[in-house]
Amino acid sequence: MNDFDPKLLLDTPPFPAERVAGLADRLARLIGASGDVLLVQAEAVVALEAVAASLGRPGVKAVNIVTSPYGAWFGRWLRRAGASVVEIRAEAARPVSARAVEAALDAHPDANLLAVVHAESASGIRNPLEAIQLLARERGVLTIVDAVASLGGHDFSADALRADVVVVGPQKALAGPAGFSAVAVSKRAWAEIDRPDAPQTSTLSLVDQKRLWLDIGRGALPGTPSPLELWALAAALDRVEAEGMERLIDRHGEAAAAARDGLEALGLAPWARAEDASNLVTAFAVPEGIDALHLLETLRAADPDFSFGVGPGAERLIRLNHTGRRADPAVVHAMISVLAAALRR
Ligand SMILES: *Cc1c(COP(=O)(O)O)cnc(C)c1O
Repeated sequence: MNDFDPKLLLDTPPFPAERVAGLADRLARLIGASGDVLLVQAEAVVALEAVAASLGRPGVKAVNIVTSPYGAWFGRWLRRAGASVVEIRAEAARPVSARAVEAALDAHPDANLLAVVHAESASGIRNPLEAIQLLARERGVLTIVDAVASLGGHDFSADALRADVVVVGPQKALAGPAGFSAVAVSKRAWAEIDRPDAPQTSTLSLVDQKRLWLDIGRGALPGTPSPLELWALAAALDRVEAEGMERLIDRHGEAAAAARDGLEALGLAPWARAEDASNLVTAFAVPEGIDALHLLETLRAADPDFSFGVGPGAERLIRLNHTGRRADPAVVHAMISVLAAALRR
């Protein structure tokens, strides 16, 4: 950070148009998607909103799983687009159960869409994605998976899961820039998206992305793509590929295990069970009798990567961030030492 010179970011050369499609192909490999991958020049939450705006319409009935604010927003965007939404709310800050998903799908046999977040950075939990995909597939329900916080932190393959629409961003486990995100779209999903009444001439239109980029040979992106972001994305992908996805995922698993062990050694129970924990952050509930805000302020003075959880039920959780470059047992051990010192006081 000390030798970072922001002036280097000025006057960057344009990103070669003929290399843009390569970025999408490389992301497709990481996602395990053989279908199309679109690049959205925006943070991942905008790509999620675009998916909801492009798939939601009157006549669509969606089962929307809510385990964090992201899922809650997704339901709102679907409704805004005219879809009817059946919400499954797990216990606050806990993963949904496959049984609850099965019950909802059985109660709504006319549902044709299901949306779920794989791993949650908000609370450090992970939903049972494989079981959920299986339930949806058996019923022919199109699935949308928010894999923003799981890609690079957990095994993930869109094809193996038969996930129809997958949203990812490079800024979490892949340790890349936040200004581009990607949406993998299956053939089946295109049939639902590419319709005469689909939104067009809109930042949130996936059909625009198809017409203005995919269908005309995937050259330069429409609009004014930021060379800074494209260069940064290319560099992030270089680094991920050099390390290897498998090693990257292992590193996140090792960091998460170190965090769990460290918390337990301090007498603090990790919030998520090991079998449904996210490998990107590990959270614990602040014990009764301890001023949570004061504890967090003390921790953050030493390391700003401690934070409160986000969303209902997660506010009393403190999270240890071990995402991306921080997915390293040494980083986690240092955090545990900071925590031990703060608790002694
Ligand atoms: C981080 C995250 C997002 C959104 O990413 P932004 O960078 O805030 O746009 C979406 N879903 C999940 C599960 C995330 O962890």
